[in-house]
Amino acid sequence: MVVIMKQGFTHKQLEDAVRAMEAGGVKVMISKGSETTILGAEGNAANLNQELLAQLPGVERVMRVSEPYKKANRKYHPDDSVVDIGGGVCIGGKKLAVIAGPCSVESEEQITDVAEAVKSAGARALRGGAYKPRTSPYAFQGMGVDGIHLLEKARAATGLPMVTELMSPDQLPMFEDTVDVIQIGARNMQNFDLLKKVGRYHKPVLLKRGLSNTIEEWLMSAEYIMSEGNPNVILCERGIRTFETYTRNTLDLSAVLAVKRQSHLPVVVDPSHACGKAWMVERMALAAVAAGADGLLIEVHNDPAHALCDGAQSITPDQFTALMDKLRVLAPAVGREL
Ligand code: PEP
Ligand code: MN
Repeated sequence: MVVIMKQGFTHKQLEDAVRAMEAGGVKVMISKGSETTILGAEGNAANLNQELLAQLPGVERVMRVSEPYKKANRKYHPDDSVVDIGGGVCIGGKKLAVIAGPCSVESEEQITDVAEAVKSAGARALRGGAYKPRTSPYAFQGMGVDGIHLLEKARAATGLPMVTELMSPDQLPMFEDTVDVIQIGARNMQNFDLLKKVGRYHKPVLLKRGLSNTIEEWLMSAEYIMSEGNPNVILCERGIRTFETYTRNTLDLSAVLAVKRQSHLPVVVDPSHACGKAWMVERMALAAVAAGADGLLIEVHNDPAHALCDGAQSITPDQFTALMDKLRVLAPAVGREL
């Protein structure tokens, strides 16, 4: 349940409304937006008396919220959330955030070259996996902690904050000390124990949509992180499994609109994993921005043919630069800046 305060409510009216809700056995989450202030009930709202609350002075109206997610719900927080990832970069709001880099960190030269190339094309953050969730145990599993140190070097050289995937809670203290954005991969979207643990840290979390998960399940996973105290969640649509096999996954662009309606959290789109084909990335990236995405996550490799992971969907730095040039033209047409 949410209680929406009237314009010009007094401090005492707010306190009285909070107290009345607490007396009904819930915790109250106060969200002060640009236009409205909302009191959200956390916990079991069954004992709250909707009619009585609606009659309190200063209260505009009271709404029952049917969705199971609360902190991620736009009804509890009408304004768009903006997540500060450090290095002067925010995700959400008018400015688009393009995150680019290789699927995996492979060597110092590779990650630093790609970081410098994507930075000069206008990327605002660097991606690169050090711990890789591979289907085959015989495939390259990532450089592990050495990869994290190479990302730190690339960050020092370029100033780009880094986004990298966390696979196990054992890595969390090290990630808290070194990484700027913790990526939770599609395969771990419903690893609830991992989500809860990440929620107890303060680092921004990029939460990818699971391979076969609904929008509501995705938002419930965001809720797991937020309910532990970490509000800094960025959602990432990366394609879902359908019957179609031409593409690696099916990019669900309508999910961007759905999620932005249901939730205040920023949403970025990963066309690389969605399509699995480098030649599709540019068009799908433009389409994602036209659909309202707050940013993009794009795989860029300096030698895709020899990439240790996901070469087929990786674009080159030159192709990335061409994409950014097109985005610069598109962005203002859809009310954005690059
Ligand atoms: C990745 O970003 O390299 C990755 C493994 O993505 P996903 O979890 O979306 O498959
Ligand atoms: Mn990849």
